[in-house]
Amino acid sequence: MDSVWTKTLNQVKTWARINSPWAIHFNSGSCNGCDIEILATLTPRYDVERFGIKLQGSPRHADVLICTGPVTRQAKNRLLRIYEQMPDPKFVIAVGSCGLSGGAFQGCYNITGNINEVIPVDVYVPGCPPRPEAIIYGVAQLLAKLQAPAPAVKEG
Ligand code: SF4
Repeated sequence: MDSVWTKTLNQVKTWARINSPWAIHFNSGSCNGCDIEILATLTPRYDVERFGIKLQGSPRHADVLICTGPVTRQAKNRLLRIYEQMPDPKFVIAVGSCGLSGGAFQGCYNITGNINEVIPVDVYVPGCPPRPEAIIYGVAQLLAKLQAPAPAVKEG
């Protein structure tokens, strides 16, 4: 059973994470269309930093992995390595139709599959490519999910 101290510390960590999620971006095989939209999301026009969202270079400092594209055979191990290097709790947002289903690259010889076949995905942002507003909405959905109280555990 968690002590009051541990519970309070976890609440503070969740509060900090919700108010300033740090994200890392990885292209696991996208055509770059989705990546350009992610970059546009970071520009002053959309300015996600005003929500505390900050792009990180190192997976060791990131809470959220924003991944684009299907997963190519070449990128599979790199994607796994990045995911494993992120500290717990970690979250994944799959951006673009290719990340959801393989999209335009479905069935290609060099494709392993969609992102969820390699690492667990928390939020999907559909579109080819999705607009920056949709990407911001996806991040907001993830933050809302984090804010929701954990479901009560039934006893007996
Ligand atoms: S969803 Fe569209 S824009 Fe994004 S990687 Fe696939 S083909 Fe490219």
